[in-house]
Amino acid sequence: MTAPIRLAVVGMGKIAHDQHLPAIAAGKSFELVATVSRHGEAVDGKPFFNNIDELAASDVEVDAVALCTPPQVRRTIAETAIENGWHTFLEKPPGATLAEVVALRDLADEKGVSLFASWHSRYAEAVEPARDWLANRDIRKVTIIWREDVRVWHPGQHWIWEPGGFGVFDPGINALSIATRILPDPFFVETADLDVPSNCAAPIAARIDFRGAKGTPISMDLDFRQEGPQSWDIIVETDAGTLKLAKGGSVLTIDGNEQRQPAEALHGEYPGLYRRFAAIIRAGVSDVDLSPLRLVADAFLRGKHNSVEEFIE
Ligand code: NAP
Repeated sequence: MTAPIRLAVVGMGKIAHDQHLPAIAAGKSFELVATVSRHGEAVDGKPFFNNIDELAASDVEVDAVALCTPPQVRRTIAETAIENGWHTFLEKPPGATLAEVVALRDLADEKGVSLFASWHSRYAEAVEPARDWLANRDIRKVTIIWREDVRVWHPGQHWIWEPGGFGVFDPGINALSIATRILPDPFFVETADLDVPSNCAAPIAARIDFRGAKGTPISMDLDFRQEGPQSWDIIVETDAGTLKLAKGGSVLTIDGNEQRQPAEALHGEYPGLYRRFAAIIRAGVSDVDLSPLRLVADAFLRGKHNSVEEFIE
């Protein structure tokens, strides 16, 4: 039997608690050995450190880290982790800029450690079946609607409104991580309209028109002000019918008929991510797909910025 990979979790916020700790505890591949937290939070009596340098200076033996901080502060933490020879799991988005993630990937290659730019939405249960169904279709039109209530899903997360925090592209990049996985051809930003509250640095809503390499129109509607039912839908019109991926990639319908997934496919996003992280560590490779981040960067590059009503949480 292979020994579990000794893992430290860095940044003990919402996603660390909601998803990472349960997925680590439920699986056999990883053993939590420490946490790193500015507010000094221990888990299950394990050692904790205020920053990654203190962890590196300690005698705790670590093989890998999962970085769950906001993107703006992730690069330097990841750099320290990789320099220490630790396999590194980056929460999404993998960084605040493209260049820093490329540099981390190169550093990981140089140091012989595995870097994982995780995209949790790709592990939703209906994403791979949607990709398979679309593989040989003629795709005519794609509509992405990703509207959620920021007050419900991101309470008190000031970093999301700051430069490098992505605003509504924090969830929007999840939609793009699915779209870049299921659509057979690449696509490019043509126009983008970004609505930025007058007291924030990041958009609260955005409308983006992309064009696929074969001319397919792809539109994306993002909004952080959605109350009531939430929308995390991708609709793909093809020569053989209309595919809809709903609920963030977990429900698939073709022409309105739900395609139920076999029980073994119902593994959950974060258990799937940790399985993948273990697999790339054991294979001695990295998994860094930048395509969702590249599209977001392009939307900011090509986007028209509109000042809208201030956001008061
Ligand atoms: P969060 O609740 O704000 O937690 C982030 C944690 O990072 C903080 O609790 C803090 O923990 C640490 N941190 C270190 N430096 C920080 C700084 N300068 N400013 C703020 N926090 C800092 O955020 P989150 O929702 O967990 O999101 C973290 C990352 O996970 C983001 O990239 C996000 O896109 C991604 N993610 C979030 C969700 C979700 O549903 N919330 C889902 C999937 C992915 P300490 O005080 O312990 O240092």
